[in-house]
Amino acid sequence: MSANWSGTVIFRDEQRVAPSSIDEMQELISKSVRVRARGSAHCFNDIADTSATAITFENMPSDIEINKDNQTVRVPAGMKYGELAVALNDRGWAIHNMASLPHISVAGAVATATHGSGVGNGNLATAVKSLELVLPDGSLKRVSEGDVDFLGYVVGLGLTGVVVNLDLAIEPTFNISQTVYRGMSRESYAANLDEIMSLAYSVSYFTTWAAAGGGEVWAKFKSGTTAPTELFEAYPATSNRHPLPGLNPEPCTEQMAVGGPWHLRLPHFKMEFTPSAGDEIQSEFFVARKDAPAAIAALEKIAPQINEILWVTEIRAIAADQLWMSPHYQRDSIGIHFTWKKVDAVYEMVKVVEATLAPFNYRPHLGKVFSASPENFASVMPKLNDFKKLIREIDPDNKFGNDFTNNLLGL
Ligand SMILES: Cc1cc2nc3c(=O)[nH]c(=O)nc-3n(C[C@H](O)[C@H](O)[C@H](O)COP(=O)(O)OP(=O)(O)OC[C@H]3O[C@@H](n4cnc5c(N)ncnc54)[C@H](O)[C@@H]3O)c2cc1C
Repeated sequence: MSANWSGTVIFRDEQRVAPSSIDEMQELISKSVRVRARGSAHCFNDIADTSATAITFENMPSDIEINKDNQTVRVPAGMKYGELAVALNDRGWAIHNMASLPHISVAGAVATATHGSGVGNGNLATAVKSLELVLPDGSLKRVSEGDVDFLGYVVGLGLTGVVVNLDLAIEPTFNISQTVYRGMSRESYAANLDEIMSLAYSVSYFTTWAAAGGGEVWAKFKSGTTAPTELFEAYPATSNRHPLPGLNPEPCTEQMAVGGPWHLRLPHFKMEFTPSAGDEIQSEFFVARKDAPAAIAALEKIAPQINEILWVTEIRAIAADQLWMSPHYQRDSIGIHFTWKKVDAVYEMVKVVEATLAPFNYRPHLGKVFSASPENFASVMPKLNDFKKLIREIDPDNKFGNDFTNNLLGL
């Protein structure tokens, strides 16, 4: 793995090491001057890069342990959500949500506050009840909900220690059915945003920012709820859809209101296929849910510029949480996501989008492309100083840092 998933970040690793036990991991970390954990390398910025030692998890044990009394599962850090989900569902359990793809590692997704959708659903990191980490001196530490600074450790950007396993909240397995509504204009979506995003357990709105033609609402209903036969001017699709206009829907999870287990409906993409376009760059910005209609109206002014280099935009809802470095910290959020074409113009366009969203105090997705200065980032992340203090205590020699985190946090 010398590059990230989309090939847009070439890793500069001096060496890559894949320990096969926690003991080996501890020894490696204690003897290293600088190390960086790497998950499945699906981030679109340099957050997972290092110029020293990259630690990967493919040789670590992959068993899960369910605790029925606490309703938690202990998960090895490098496990993919897709693998975890099958193992959980086979035993009658579920986690509360999934990202659009099941291919990502649990620890990597948690470290960047990866999310799915749903007005009542926190991001994936909100399921964490406890973490076991290797600290810079090689010692092991378990941090659990209720412990001092737990809320700072979870969305750790790879800086709070190398996570070896996580306890996640689980619930009895549930079924979801997915209906795609076509012909939803942005105007109508923005005007009825709260109602549409609250329609189902998880809802996404897709648009290309084209002047004409409607977008699509992808609604994932928990069993027991019935999909309406129309949604404002939008109507249920009569065949399966891909979120990117014109692409074959085969890689997508089952639609057309066919019920099935949560893990085969909540992600948009199936585990056995390449998700999304592949040939792409992603960025995403979060605003308060109440500000989302105005933020969409502001983006309308640059819609033609966006459309020129865009595959598709996805708009999702994420419930507020208490995790210090979560972009959804104490703010019910709407994520405005851009799947861009893989062209250099994206990096300048991202700055235009950021300038447009600045009046709404947008917070960036930590694993996607953004250009915020440390000052700008600090101004929208209320717990940043507490997080920096925590990292200085955990890792005074900055063993786990890289250029990306040093720049972003001003370390
Ligand atoms: C096609 C596609 C679709 C996507 N869809 C979504 C989506 O629906 N929602 C969303 O929010 N995001 C989405 N993303 C972004 C993605 O989920 C995040 O970038 C996520 O962080 C990827 O996890 P990873 O395991 O690949 O992390 P990596 O890129 O490998 O690493 C990310 C960070 O986690 C840290 N890390 C990894 N493992 C550990 C560990 N064991 N201990 C400590 N730190 C660790 C790394 O140091 C790094 O800082 C998508 C990405 C792609 C490519």
